[in-house]
Amino acid sequence: MANAPFPEITLFITGPTYIRPEVRAAGAWPEYGHRDAENAKRFESIFHNLGVIADLPADYRTILFLGSGSTAMEASIRSLVAEDETVLHATVGAFGDLWHKMSVANGKKTVHLAFEPGRPVDPAVLEAAMAEHKPAVVAITHNETSTGLANDVPALCKIIKAHGALALVDGVSIFGGAPCPIAASGCDFYATATQKALGLHAGFGIGFVSPAAIEKARHVTCRGHATDILSHLGRAEKFQTQSTPNGALGNQMYLQLRYIVEEEGLAARFARHEAMREMTVAFVKTLPGYALFAAEGFRSPTVTAVAAAPGMAAADLRAIKEALRPRGYLFDPGYAKLNEDLEAAGQRPIFRIGHMGDITPAMLEAYLKDLGEVLVR
Ligand SMILES: *Cc1c(COP(=O)(O)O)cnc(C)c1O
Repeated sequence: MANAPFPEITLFITGPTYIRPEVRAAGAWPEYGHRDAENAKRFESIFHNLGVIADLPADYRTILFLGSGSTAMEASIRSLVAEDETVLHATVGAFGDLWHKMSVANGKKTVHLAFEPGRPVDPAVLEAAMAEHKPAVVAITHNETSTGLANDVPALCKIIKAHGALALVDGVSIFGGAPCPIAASGCDFYATATQKALGLHAGFGIGFVSPAAIEKARHVTCRGHATDILSHLGRAEKFQTQSTPNGALGNQMYLQLRYIVEEEGLAARFARHEAMREMTVAFVKTLPGYALFAAEGFRSPTVTAVAAAPGMAAADLRAIKEALRPRGYLFDPGYAKLNEDLEAAGQRPIFRIGHMGDITPAMLEAYLKDLGEVLVR
């Protein structure tokens, strides 16, 4: 793009992600007042296409939060966990831990059921914890970005719902890159955001809400304001946001969601992500000493985590990041806190390869070639 005072670089991190030139250009389209009739035209299409991408059951509702994925996640805690209730967080890495932290920060009674990084939630352990703690609400991560692991959401929600609890799911780094499990799982709140597999800038948190969740929220006090899903639903009915949205992002989102649904097509988009996971897994298997971090059968279609070769430290991964920058790439040297923990436990640090959003297999192939040269020299 012309006249930017900053260098162009292609993002292979796990969010924000690469933005197509057409999407960048749509950021220059006109602005309107957010209660104006023109505004509803772009946002009606946005709400509609989000529902198409989610394969959303007809009785679920969609909310656009101003903020990011975290905003949607915190809203679910504020709106759906009552004061005397327990929320159980079954976590498999840093983003599950973050959601738990939000519940604690909001004064909720929590149970933290943490699994080893790189491993999925164990259904038998979850089942036992449900029986022991009888939580009213359970939060799980669909795609744990810190470890490259995707949980089996329908299987876990089956257990949660069999115990009569509401199921909340963090799908921030996978929505738009894989089939959405709302219909298959019957989950009550599914949170996501714009800046990961949807290939947009950050700026909206997205929430999909079940009828049971809407009913539940009516009985929860002190839902806050920006975190009150009922307040948002009133605006969403009119294809609006609760307060002033980022209009440039709205314009870009209008274009991008139409592209995803009408031009690329969901089946092709999801197949492209699967193909990129397979390319990345095959690449890692050729690297001497490096290893795939997430358990087989649970590897994410949007991000691959790689355990560094023996003897490598997190500092070496940061050096690799700088070696790739002059080649035009932003490399992801791993989730810092996880690498600290791994190193403290005498284990190898990990790095990540983001392959989500509008990255193409050809772009990924070129990146992996450069990455391979830098990693094994
Ligand atoms: C990025 C991410 C978040 C946080 O989302 P923000 O949009 O940065 O607030 C939460 N969960 C997962 C799994 C993520 O990848």
